[in-house]
Amino acid sequence: MTMKVHEIFESICGEGPVIGVPAIFIRLYGCNLKCDFCDTKQDDFYDISVNDVSEAISASVNGTRVVCWTGGEPTIQLNEMLRTISLLKTSGFDFDHIVETNGTIITADIVKANKDKISVWIISPKDNQTAKYWITAIHDDKTLVNMIHLKFVISSFDELPSELGNMRFYVQPKLTVDGDSDPVSAFKSLVEQMWKFIVIVPNVVILPQLHKIMGVR
Ligand code: SF4
Repeated sequence: MTMKVHEIFESICGEGPVIGVPAIFIRLYGCNLKCDFCDTKQDDFYDISVNDVSEAISASVNGTRVVCWTGGEPTIQLNEMLRTISLLKTSGFDFDHIVETNGTIITADIVKANKDKISVWIISPKDNQTAKYWITAIHDDKTLVNMIHLKFVISSFDELPSELGNMRFYVQPKLTVDGDSDPVSAFKSLVEQMWKFIVIVPNVVILPQLHKIMGVR
């Protein structure tokens, strides 16, 4: 079994609930969406066996205990990802696995069925229908609360779905694709905007893109 990988590297998590956590990143190739603000360079990939990905992860061990599966959209290659995680577990490597996804391919049942393999799903909906699906899923099944973290990439409050209410969720500023946006200014601007709406969404967490501020991958 092989998978299409864009790059494997180590860095600190720059976004969402795991911001600042050192991790091994597996950036899988391809996405099923075409967001106009997408800043992920996906111009090339290589085919690599799941065995070799598993070995690359285990060989990177320098104290890092977290693997972040990202993309593109990593769940396009869900079976390959799960197979790699199983191989690591069978070999005795006890990493925490995080998946960053747009949430359009997986379901709440898939999240629950794989809770022993993937501890954290960072779901960043890009359309209202997907957002409503995950908000309802978390609302209806509290066992999902610690597994799923919703993250919205926005320029203004009115881009958020109205159903969030008291739910805890993350926002980060939407930057321009050409790299002209200053990530610090964009973050400050978002904080200022969100302050006006705290009464409506009291459990919002406003985060910058740390890796953009640091200028690292
Ligand atoms: S879902 Fe993410 S990776 Fe895919 S096009 Fe949108 S921003 Fe880019």
